[in-house]
Amino acid sequence: MRLSNTLIPTLRDAPQDAEIESHKLMMRAGLIRKLGAGLYTFLPMGLRALRNVERIIREEMARAGAIEVLMPSLQPREIWETTGRYETLKKSMFRIRDRQDRDMVLGPTHEEVITELVSHELNSYRQLPRTFYQIQTKFRDEIRPRFGLMRAREFIMKDAYSFDLDWDCLDRSYQAMYAAYQRIFERCGLRVKIVEADTGAMGGNASHEFMVLAEAGEDGIVECESCAYAANVERGERALTPAVEEPAGAGLVDVATPNARTIEEVSKFLKLPARRLIKTLIYLADGKPVAALLAGDRDLNEIKLRKALGCTELVLADAAQVESATGAPVGFAGPIGLTIPVIADAGLQGRASLAAGANKADTHLVHVSVTRDVGAARFHDLVNAKTGDACPRCAAGKLREMRGIEVGHVFKLGTKYSEAFHAAYLDANKEKKTMIMGCYGIGVTRTLQAIIEQSHDENGIIWPAGVAPFLAAVLPLSPNETCMNTALKLEEELIRAGIDALVDDRDERPGVKFKDADLLGCPIRIVVSDRSLAEGKVELRKRSEKTSQLVPLEEAVSRVETLFS
Ligand code: ATP
Ligand code: MG
Repeated sequence: MRLSNTLIPTLRDAPQDAEIESHKLMMRAGLIRKLGAGLYTFLPMGLRALRNVERIIREEMARAGAIEVLMPSLQPREIWETTGRYETLKKSMFRIRDRQDRDMVLGPTHEEVITELVSHELNSYRQLPRTFYQIQTKFRDEIRPRFGLMRAREFIMKDAYSFDLDWDCLDRSYQAMYAAYQRIFERCGLRVKIVEADTGAMGGNASHEFMVLAEAGEDGIVECESCAYAANVERGERALTPAVEEPAGAGLVDVATPNARTIEEVSKFLKLPARRLIKTLIYLADGKPVAALLAGDRDLNEIKLRKALGCTELVLADAAQVESATGAPVGFAGPIGLTIPVIADAGLQGRASLAAGANKADTHLVHVSVTRDVGAARFHDLVNAKTGDACPRCAAGKLREMRGIEVGHVFKLGTKYSEAFHAAYLDANKEKKTMIMGCYGIGVTRTLQAIIEQSHDENGIIWPAGVAPFLAAVLPLSPNETCMNTALKLEEELIRAGIDALVDDRDERPGVKFKDADLLGCPIRIVVSDRSLAEGKVELRKRSEKTSQLVPLEEAVSRVETLFS
């Protein structure tokens, strides 16, 4: 392809709203353009790379035995009501109305549609197991669309759904998808970390996320330094050494702490480390106030708190609600003397010599003993695991925190959807059984950007060969016909060898061509110039390496081939 025949609008500077490197590079290399918040057009280079990711996914899905279908984005409200998700997903779902005033949804995911289909089309044990997938556009009204394709409102997902006879059979389907995901990400040139993920109300070890490790990732991960344990912080646990009862010491004492509200302010004022303070957070669980306690150096995990309380809605109380529940302004809540239920993080059990709010303005209590003074509390794991905690799996190792980009997610669903849609089969004894489901997603467009986030340098993208929009960039440098014709002939020969090449046929200075070639990131650069041609040679350089080599023109194609074999 000649560069002048396509659209590759490279930019010197990234737009203001591009915060992370991969987003900047996608804009600068002319892969995408923004239409509105979380809405992007794919330009030719971006689209070619995207198609490569999709091709890898299709090949690996086929290898794993999954069947491709294509479901509508536009869906009737009724199927979403069947599972209750018309309500529970309402905030993130795009809803529209047709000309007959019927409510419709732009699909954020497709469990409902596929299960409705399968409930009609499959009904015998002979037809199971089956895994269906599609590569299709999803719509989600994200609170904060950002980072380009990472969190968009319209994006492409590969979503797969398995239908099995029983739980053992699901284990095998799950394992097949898990292995396919490992191969897909490897072929995309990505290093991924597979972590245990939160399973919502289901419990059990039935969900994994595929994380691309990157500072810019929106997900927190904890992993053990010595064993294989790794989990999303939403789920990550820590080993709690059996609570050692610290001596209660002196009795409670009121201390004036004027204007010291935050953990930082109180810690400074009382000259106590944050871990010696009790953080008291007032929440409304299904509308009723409850106090959650944790050590001052910890972050509350709302998913764990919700589970421990068994509530569906959990919101942090506002200032007025805090005041009515504790009798004190925000910043001075504490567990002692409260009339609302108290739930505490298990890490606080047995601890003493702590400080806590006194439920009185500008006052804290010191010498708090959890056992003596907060006896009524229930203890649960309520906080995020963090660096230095003991590993819950091997106990010997320490955990460390990392950040990741969730590119894939596999999940054992069970019967939630198959029950709702009566997706059942007759077994060998003609007995009716509910199908057991799994679902498996890959953010295709997010994966594309994650590849760039993990593979770039200060000059631009470094495409892994499997996904590169073109394997080779051919740069005719000298402004004369021989040079240009040699470049175009080289392109033809490369194509014959199955290697797509981009010829920079623009009337530009060498410096501009070099800069853009680095920015665009094709794995191989072939420079054709009068100087090298005088010796019958061209210059070959791998984008990932600093040094180039002169090779005889007639050997150029075979040399490129060997570089990729
Ligand atoms: P997140 O926690 O990042 O919002 P999710 O857990 O809601 O994602 P899933 O429902 O598991 O997402 O969707 C499967 C995959 O689709 C995710 O692993 C992710 O790669 C991708 N994905 C989800 N939301 C978006 C989005 N707004 N933009 C781009 N890709 C997305
Ligand atoms: Mg997910």
